[in-house]
Amino acid sequence: MHLTCPECKNDVDLARYPGLADNQAVECQMCGITLLVTDTSTDEVQAEILDEGK
Ligand SMILES: [Zn+2]
Repeated sequence: MHLTCPECKNDVDLARYPGLADNQAVECQMCGITLLVTDTSTDEVQAEILDEGK
C-alpha cells in the first residue's frame, strides 16, 4: 500500500498503521498533518486533509 500526502507530496509511512482501514486518521511524518483515509480498496491509498496541524 502507498499513500502520498496531499499536503507535502511525500510518502506517508504506512508501516506504522497495520490493518489500515477507511476513515482511519493517519499522520504524515514529513509535515505533521493529520489525514483521513478515504479509500484503501486499491494499492494507491486515498486520503483527505483532516487537520492542518501546526
Ligand atoms: Zn505531509
